[in-house]
Order: sequence, then structure tokens, then C-alpha cells
Amino acid sequence: AKLAVTVDVQKLVTWKEGAPVPYAFLAETFETIATTSKRLEIISALTSAFRAILAGTPGDLLPAVYLCTNRVAPAHAGIELGVGDAILIKALASATGRKESSIKSDYETSGDLGSVAASCRSAQRTLFTPAPLTIAAVLKTFREIAKESGQSSQERKKGLISKLLVASKGCEPGYIMRSLQAKLRIGLAEQSVLVAIAHAVLLHKEGAKDKDGKLADRLEQASQAVKAAYSECPSYDMLIPALLDHPLSELAAHVHFMPGVPVKPMLAKPTTGVGEVLDKFTDCEFTCEYKYDGERVQIHVLDGGKTVHIYSRNAEDMTPRYPDILARLPSWLAPGTDSIVIDGEAVAWDPEKAKILPFQVLSTRARKEVALADVKVQVCVYAFDCLYHNGASLLHEPLTKRRQLLHDSLVEVPGQLAQATTKISNDVEELEAFLNEAVDASTEGLIVKTLGDTYEPSRRSSHWLKLKKDYLAGVGDTFDVVPIGAFYGRGKRAGVFGAYLLAVYDDENEAYQTISKLGTGFSEEQLVQLADSLRPAIIPKPRSYYKYGESGAPDVWFEPTHVWEVKAADLSISPLHQAAMGLVEPGKGISIRFPRLVRVRDDKSPEDATTAGQVADMYRQQAVVAAEARSKAKAG
Ligand code: ATP
Repeated sequence: AKLAVTVDVQKLVTWKEGAPVPYAFLAETFETIATTSKRLEIISALTSAFRAILAGTPGDLLPAVYLCTNRVAPAHAGIELGVGDAILIKALASATGRKESSIKSDYETSGDLGSVAASCRSAQRTLFTPAPLTIAAVLKTFREIAKESGQSSQERKKGLISKLLVASKGCEPGYIMRSLQAKLRIGLAEQSVLVAIAHAVLLHKEGAKDKDGKLADRLEQASQAVKAAYSECPSYDMLIPALLDHPLSELAAHVHFMPGVPVKPMLAKPTTGVGEVLDKFTDCEFTCEYKYDGERVQIHVLDGGKTVHIYSRNAEDMTPRYPDILARLPSWLAPGTDSIVIDGEAVAWDPEKAKILPFQVLSTRARKEVALADVKVQVCVYAFDCLYHNGASLLHEPLTKRRQLLHDSLVEVPGQLAQATTKISNDVEELEAFLNEAVDASTEGLIVKTLGDTYEPSRRSSHWLKLKKDYLAGVGDTFDVVPIGAFYGRGKRAGVFGAYLLAVYDDENEAYQTISKLGTGFSEEQLVQLADSLRPAIIPKPRSYYKYGESGAPDVWFEPTHVWEVKAADLSISPLHQAAMGLVEPGKGISIRFPRLVRVRDDKSPEDATTAGQVADMYRQQAVVAAEARSKAKAG
């Protein structure tokens, strides 16, 4: 049924072969996708749209993919769309002649600026018919808007947006608005876009006829190849031209990890004790490393240290923030090391006492460009992985080899660069002792890694397990949650928020599900700071993608903007909270009890918050630990 609808889109919006693809074609495709939440239907609709673009105007596939993924450039380029509601409302007012106050009140009622824009435009009588918007032109304007900065940039942004809106019709204004808010909200996950690209390219190249009965296999292979290429080289500027110019079978040769394009880091899974680690790693060799508490850094080095880029865990280019690392780096390279990509942790360092300082000290370091002379907090880089060495990617090499090259290529400099402290053992007592040592050395605990496995970009892999010393009663890890609402304070807390409503991210459905209320453990100063940071994010109504229990509704709602790391005593099945809804018990969610704020996570975006799936895993793990404790107690 879905394909039939998509074909209708293609009949509805046509263009001459080779001519720029109308934006209406993509907007109609989004409309189709919005009507379903089934992954396969979404992929099939998008595949069909991409095939039409490939058949008509293949050069427009790249801009179409950017618009589908809500990006204007690869993540590391640091150019992001995301215009504040105030400017969007002003632009809409100027494009439609409506009063800002009436747009605001419509927005308050519907909670979706996209639909307000669409209805404003359709109600408007226009004297002339503007030329239709094209995919390429919309992306070009989005890029101009994203790059605008400095004096009167807001005014210029408003002008550009208003021009787009004036030229838009039908469902176009709605999607223009949502893209500018940086959220399409049609349930289109990036993984689905990648699959649709793969399917469309394959079907375009070899036709849709299943000549040998193996088309399904080839489609699956193509998806795997495209997903793998993108995870190694997250840049559509590289991926799409390679797909257009070369056979799919050669993709890996053209799109692979390279210095200058950071990969999303490999992540670890939580565990609740040495016993669990040993259970999981029974048949393999593994190593334990100190888990340093600082900031993840992926350092890309070329030309013997002449070109250096330092990327964050979110692929943000942080090079200007670390002039000290830049200045020191050439002296860290062993003779013969020309290019290298180091995965490591930058940790605050006390040069006088020669010891690691807590994360809180690192977080006082300036978060923007800084001159070398103004660096206040010293950092020591603890290197733990090597992803590239002298022209060759090491992602597909086992950790043993990557570590060997890391050791061979770098020279330790006390207080500046060190190799992560490691231990190889599978003895429970030795590991417990090493965990204590790690904590005494001011780290958070251990990360335990299998030695025989490859580097898995952007995966929370079961080949890396984290073991934090302060896990509590079976909860193996802290939670990264998004405050989506707040309750007014009373008495001493009047004027600030007294408690917050916290949510985790359901990445399958692009929704935020509440997990707990947090109202204790704050200092007065903290309460003021948190309230100040969240006030600008207040929205009139909960977003349609917030899942919460009616009886737990807060006094004000927030846009999902902040990520807080919280510690909790345990997880329990909840009649009210919606986290991991139905994953553990039908119709029920999970909540955390006695949450405490650990820190604000500036380095994570709301989509990086703890996911529903992780909450369900942690709940199950807690149950296992509790059962073990019970049987031990019985045996004892
Ligand atoms: P996650 O993304 O896994 O939720 P997080 O940023 O919340 O991570 P943790 O879960 O506490 O942090 O731990 C993972 C992080 O630990 C890594 O992203 C990295 O920054 C840091 N880390 C410190 N030491 C190591 C190490 N030896 N190996 C890998 N990661 C390390």
C-alpha cells in the first residue's frame, strides 16, 4: 500500500529529466512517511523517491539525503541548522502578513510550528505564483542560514527564511519550518535513510526484476555495505558520489576511515561487577584499562604533527580549544610516525602534585577557542587506542595490534601524554584489586576490552565493558537523562524550579519517555543555575513525542536541549513512568529510584541520552544480580 502512495507522489510532482528536483517532491515524500511508523514502509517509500531522483536528476540525490537527515554538512564541519522559535515566528509573520501574537497563540495550541506555517500559507491569498522551490535551492539557503553569524545575522536569517516561506506551498512550509528547528519528526531514522540509499542505488543500477531469485540477498548486502562505509566515514559528500561513480562492490575501497573525518567512538556496555565481566568474557582474551574521567578526544595527526585535529565524542572539531595539545603533539611522536589517529581521554592534570584531577576541574576549562597563554587547566592525554597509522586504517585490526602500534608510535611525556594503565588477568581477586587501584588513582573504574576484536565505530559494543566502582545495588551505570519538564518550587525554592521531570530517549520511535522526577540533592546555587539554563527552553505544550503519565505532568515543559547524568539507587517497574514501555512488562514502564544529579553533560546531545533499550537491559541485569545475591545468601 505504501508503495502505491509513493508512486502517487511521483505522479503528483514531476519534473523534466535533468532538471532540478522540486522540493515539493521531497515534502510529499515526507508526508507519506509521516503516515506510518513501520520501518519497512518508511524505507520502501524513501527508496522509491530516491530511485525517481536517480532516474531523473542523480546529482540531486546528495542534497535530498542532506534534507532527509536534517543536516547541512558532515558533523565534523560544525555547521548546524537550528533556528530559534522567535526568529521562525518573525519570519512566518513577515512572509504571511499575520501578527506574531496570533502565530504564537496558534503555536501554543498546536505545539507544532510546522503545521502553523502550513495553515498560514494555505489561508493566504497570493497575487503571483512564485517559481517552485527545488531541493538544491532549499539546501543552499539552509546552508546560508546556518553560516550566518555576527552583527544583524538574525535579521538576515529572518529574511532568508521568509523568502523560502513565500515561495513555498502545500506541505512545503511545514517541513521547511521543522527542518529549521532541526527536527523533522517523521520517524525517519538515519539508519533507514542509509538502507533506502543502498536499495535505490542497487535497483537503479540493476533494475527491480528478481532475475535469479537472489535480489533480496543483494539488497541486504548493499545495505550492509552502505551502513559500514558510512560508519567508517560519516560524510555524505564522500558516500553519495562514490555510489554514483563506482560499482557497489567497490564501495569499501573508496569510502573508508581516513584522517580528517572522525568516526563516532566505540562505546562500552555497563556491568555490575567483576563476576559479570568474567561470565561474559569466558572464551576470549581481554585486557582491563583504567577508565579515566575527562573528555574523549580523537586526535587526527598528519605530516608528522604539522596538521592536527582534535574531535569530541560527537565529532565536533575541538582543535581551537586545545592549543596546548597542538603545541606538544610533535614531541609525542616516535621516530617514523608520520600519521596517526589516537583515541584517548584528556584529563585535568595537577603539574605540581603530578596527579590526575577530577572531571569538575576539566569542566572549568574554556569551551571555546583559547590562546595557549590563557590555558588555565593543564591536561594529560591518556591514549588507549590507535585507529590509523602511517597511511593505513586500523579499524579492522584486532585490539592487540592496535595497542602495539599505539605503544610503538608514541613517546610518553610525563604529565602530557601517557598510555592508559592496563592489566591482563582473569583472576577475580586480581581484578578486584586492580579496580581498587584504579579508583585510588582518581579514575572511575575500569573498561575491560577483548583483545581479539576490531574497532566498532559508534557501537555500544559487548566487546567493551565498563566497570564503575560506585555502582549501586545492581545498577551498573549512571543514566544520561533529558529534563523535559519542571515543577515550581515552594517556600525557600520559590522563584526556581523545585523538581524536574526526567526522560530517556526511545531511539526506535524518536520519543522521550519519562523515567523519574528529580527534586533532592541540589545546592541552592545549583538550583538557580539549572533554572537559568532551562528557562529559555520553556515551551507552551508538551511535544507530541513526550511520553508521560498524566498524573505526573509538570508545571512547565522544556524543549529537549540538556542532558544530565544522574545516579540512581535502583530501577523498578512503574505504573506512571514510561521508560522502556512494554519492553520488560507489557503496558508498563520503568522508573529509577532516588535519582541524584552527578553532572550536566555538555558533550552530549538529547539523542545521545540513555535509550529505552539500555534501560531495559539494566533492569534485566539488576534482576540477575539480585537473584545471584539471593542464592548466595541461601547458600551461605
Ligand atoms: P557512554 O557514551 O558509554 O554513555 P559516557 O560518556 O557516559 O559514555 P561512560 O559511560 O562513563 O561515559 O564511559 C565511557 C567513556 O569513558 C568513553 O567514552 C571515554 O570517554 C571514557 N574512557 C576513559 N578511559 C577509557 C578507556 N581506557 N577506554 C575507553 N574509554 C575510556
